Amino acid sequence: MTARILNGITIRDQIYGELKQEIAAVSRAGIRPGLAAVLAGDNPASQIYVRSKIAACEQLGLGSWQHTPPATVTTDEMLALVAQLNARDEVDGILVQLPLPSQVDTKRVLEAVDPAKDVDGFHPVNLGRLVSGRPGLVACTPAGCMEILRRSGIALEGADAVVVGRSDIVGKPMVLLLMHANATVTICHSKTRELPGVVRRANIVIAAIGRAAMIEPDWVRPGATVIDVGINRITDAAEAQRIFANFPPKLAQFREKGSVLVGDVHPGVAEVAGAITPVPGGVGPLTIAMLMSNTVKAARLRRGHAHATLNSMTGLAAAKP
Ligand code: NAP
Repeated sequence: MTARILNGITIRDQIYGELKQEIAAVSRAGIRPGLAAVLAGDNPASQIYVRSKIAACEQLGLGSWQHTPPATVTTDEMLALVAQLNARDEVDGILVQLPLPSQVDTKRVLEAVDPAKDVDGFHPVNLGRLVSGRPGLVACTPAGCMEILRRSGIALEGADAVVVGRSDIVGKPMVLLLMHANATVTICHSKTRELPGVVRRANIVIAAIGRAAMIEPDWVRPGATVIDVGINRITDAAEAQRIFANFPPKLAQFREKGSVLVGDVHPGVAEVAGAITPVPGGVGPLTIAMLMSNTVKAARLRRGHAHATLNSMTGLAAAKP
């Protein structure tokens, strides 16, 4: 069996098409949703992520602002910046790019973001809303995984879902979203016993571990749906050879560029699964799409009350509950 590839770029483009219509509708009501990104320090990966997020805002016609405090920024300075962004009405979403410099108290900064502008869905108020099934802003990566599952017609109700990884930003909200969609959910982590056997029971596997190619083909039930959240850059030739022994194009890519990306799922799983997300081009594009969706949603919820035309609008499926 060769799995159906769940193409994140196609699904992202569908979502962008819908968002463009919604943005046009809110702009007729005089609102231009806007995202403020805070990029503290000079972490190269963070710079790339923020650049992609600002580019997505520009592509969709959203307002965007970038704030770049230096690597020496203090917690108090970050709190002052967040307070200033909380107070600006034209800012609907505040994105604090992580990781923050080590001297900054990350939790304090994230908790200072107005929950109504918390487009990353990291604030405890939004997490609490998700737990209790109330409307709120949901973390982008798990919300994106739900969009992939729903838009690909994967049956969730009554399905056995296994989430490997329990981080605050991926694993935990993922479990809650799947539970609200009536899946029976098992959450696994580094202390789980007999992990391969637990994963083998699943109709749906979500891998959010941060370990290259860890989920092996014989861990996966034939026909299962596999969502690979992991993004790992392989720079070691022996590791590339081990993982991609049967995938010559990937080995050729490694030889050409000196590195290659792999998820948390071994590429051989595509021979066993019924459907699988690729890396790259699977979950990654959805994370930014859901950030855009959350920014529009935040604008609608925060500013829509003053505009009767907005009241009839609905959000994207994963932007709920
Ligand atoms: P994280 O905070 O490091 O959490 C990793 C989780 O995996 C932890 O719960 C950990 O368990 C668990 N784990 C680690 N080793 C394990 C093992 N041997 N067996 C079972 N569980 C194990 O990572 P994260 O932020 O959730 O990210 C996970 C992956 O997703 C990373 O590859 C990251 O790059 C990727 N990611 C991708 C996107 C995207 O847009 N595609 C977005 C975010 C993250 P413990 O809790 O017991 O330590």
